[in-house]
Amino acid sequence: MCEVHFNAFTDFHNNIGEFGEKMNSESLPKHAHLLAFFPIPPSKVGKHNWLHFRSWLEYGIGQKVRDICLPWVTYGLSTIRRCADCRQASVYVRNPYNDVVIVISSDSELTE
Ligand SMILES: [Zn+2]
Repeated sequence: MCEVHFNAFTDFHNNIGEFGEKMNSESLPKHAHLLAFFPIPPSKVGKHNWLHFRSWLEYGIGQKVRDICLPWVTYGLSTIRRCADCRQASVYVRNPYNDVVIVISSDSELTE
């Protein structure tokens, strides 16, 4: 996400605190979840991350924060569609993110 659109991402700035509180109240390792979807500062979140985040919101704990987070996904995806700078930022994030995932899952055979 480009700086202009990240600064205009008021839903995220206003609700990230509430999101943290909800995750806290579930006694979950909230940062582990956050880091899985936002491995680097949110301004670098790509389409890939948004789509994973959106599927996480469909089940279990994710459903409890769905009302907060679904607008983030909608906004994030729409900026990637409409803004060339956002698109470039989202492409930039993709490979480092995948590399990290491969390192973390090195105990499995999923190296493709
Ligand atoms: Zn933008």
